[in-house]
Amino acid sequence: MSTHVNTSTITGTAGLAVTVEAHIATGLPGFTILGRPDDVCRESRDRVRAAVLSSGFLWPSRRITINLSPSGVKKAGSALDLAIAIGVLVADEQIVVPDLDGYAFLGELGLDGSIRAIPGVAPMAAVHRERALVAPEGNAHEAEIVGPRRVLVANSLRGLVESLVGNEPWPDCPVVESCDGGPSVNDLADVRGQSAARLGLELSAAGGHHLLLVGPPGSGKTMLARRLPGLLPTLDSQTALEVLMIRSAVGESLPRGGHANVPPIRMPHHSASLIAMVGGGSSSLRPGEVSLAHGGVLFLDELGEFAPTTLDALRQPLEEGVIRLSRATATAVLPARFTLVGATNPCPCGGGPPGSCECDETALARYRRRFSGPLIDRFDVRVVVNRPGPDELLGDGVGESTAVVRERVMAVRRIALERQGKLNADLSGPALDEFASPTSAATALLRTELEAGRLSGRGLHRIRRVARTLADRDGSIDRIGEDHIALALSLRARLASRHR
Ligand SMILES: [Zn+2]
Repeated sequence: MSTHVNTSTITGTAGLAVTVEAHIATGLPGFTILGRPDDVCRESRDRVRAAVLSSGFLWPSRRITINLSPSGVKKAGSALDLAIAIGVLVADEQIVVPDLDGYAFLGELGLDGSIRAIPGVAPMAAVHRERALVAPEGNAHEAEIVGPRRVLVANSLRGLVESLVGNEPWPDCPVVESCDGGPSVNDLADVRGQSAARLGLELSAAGGHHLLLVGPPGSGKTMLARRLPGLLPTLDSQTALEVLMIRSAVGESLPRGGHANVPPIRMPHHSASLIAMVGGGSSSLRPGEVSLAHGGVLFLDELGEFAPTTLDALRQPLEEGVIRLSRATATAVLPARFTLVGATNPCPCGGGPPGSCECDETALARYRRRFSGPLIDRFDVRVVVNRPGPDELLGDGVGESTAVVRERVMAVRRIALERQGKLNADLSGPALDEFASPTSAATALLRTELEAGRLSGRGLHRIRRVARTLADRDGSIDRIGEDHIALALSLRARLASRHR
């Protein structure tokens, strides 16, 4: 006898409906899985067999053939275990399930018949919205967010079968405590001093500019970067859903109480592999850090320590807001739109107070070369971060809070979007001329910088974009003045320049 059971697989952040066809016939006992299972999926033969026996069912001593359809797509991971087990039990006529086609099954089986949580349930549940979805208890929350007709949980194969055939009621879904996130613990009010860095964070959030923090160890670069997400707008529903799918695909726990609309921050270590950074690796094309940062901030501390190939790989997400992954078996386009924040020491010895630099010219030149090139040009805003002095540490002056700064950020973003349909950081050549033309005095200042060789063509665009954001912040909608250009010029900290 044969039967069909609904389940899903995942590529990148996209779910795909899969039908498990189970066929049992007389012949030499055997168990074959067809339809391009990957290694983990193929191993489900052993998991399913052990789980079926541990759950008090019989294992048919006949020829069992499982076909995973559509057969052209690689099936990754252990999510199909449950559907395969149900397929075997139904095809062997050990159980009769009314309206089997009205269900879809997702979950890994333990050898003892327990049902275990799996990564990727949100995308995989999304392709079965018309069905009742049976999922592991630990995945019920994310399954509910994408809204199948009904979510049913099960902890064991035996319990699942009892509910499925109508002998027992379905267990209750675990109650998810709602939580609105509460006040952010990373508030700008906690930052002492750091006026340049504060301005840098504000401009980055307001204009969408990528930000470089240049300062010695211990100056608080990480602490500052952590405060950027709080300045960004909460995620719109589309982005929040994309973030949910990405986090589900890597098996990260999801925030309680519905969609996560708080912009994420990711802080990969400089030793992170290329695959960890951009994604891929397994046949399911797992999302990487650039996608996990989608809608928020990708913070790269010790920027110069990252492998050049890793930094090169950021080009596509920075330009297109997506990352394209491909392997022989599959391709995926994953969302990856983020604000890049880099942090680095001012020079190889780490920098520090004036007079403390121990670097020789060769080391400085090498350091400069490392930071030359296209990546560094991405950072519109580059600010110096200093270790706070005694007055700042001991003073009781409280800086502006995140809420206050965020209000200005939102106003600037609104102005930019109404005027030009995009953030100021996305203005390029002709758009800059149309929407960000400087006054004649401001133009004269730019000319002086260009003539003195202190500004390049690319640098000029950068300065004009930042000046646009500064002018919008001042409410100077029609005019970009000398003051805005001068301030923008000051926000480009130099690397490997001698600080003695
Ligand atoms: Zn030095």
